[in-house]
Amino acid sequence: MRPVTEHDIRASFVNCSKGEAKRLSLPKDFTDLPWDDLDFLGWQDPGAPGRAYLVTMRDDGLVGISLRVTAGAARGFTSRSLCSLCLTTRTGGGVTLMTARRTGEAGRQGNSVGQYLCGDLDCSLYVRGKKQSVAGGGLDESLSLEEKVARVQTNLDTFLDKVTR
Ligand SMILES: [Zn+2]
Repeated sequence: MRPVTEHDIRASFVNCSKGEAKRLSLPKDFTDLPWDDLDFLGWQDPGAPGRAYLVTMRDDGLVGISLRVTAGAARGFTSRSLCSLCLTTRTGGGVTLMTARRTGEAGRQGNSVGQYLCGDLDCSLYVRGKKQSVAGGGLDESLSLEEKVARVQTNLDTFLDKVTR
């Protein structure tokens, strides 16, 4: 994705209050992110445990969503789980259930969308092999990099559609 500014990020959030968007902490390495390798910017709030954010460029502009991280308490340390965006398999809680409040009336009624995601939200880096998962690899390694990147974007679109529909 193209580099974006702090102002753009804070203005992009669609499912949280303006106050929350103003107060949230940016990623620690914000000024030094590998933008070229990112399909989306995702991070856990360094100042507020249990909160995470995902920002990406869509056809109609930059869209950011706020996520609640649900501790995967029921999952054993050795259990493997699959990220729904990049399909990387990870063990030991590396994949976490995150929920996003839906936008509009649905959100006001308390509706949210849950999705299993890499806890560090570095899916873009996993599919490009820039970061390795402990469990090693995804499902079908026969796909080309372009196909894997396209799949992340498709999965992300589906998720964002569910949140903003
Ligand atoms: Zn992932």
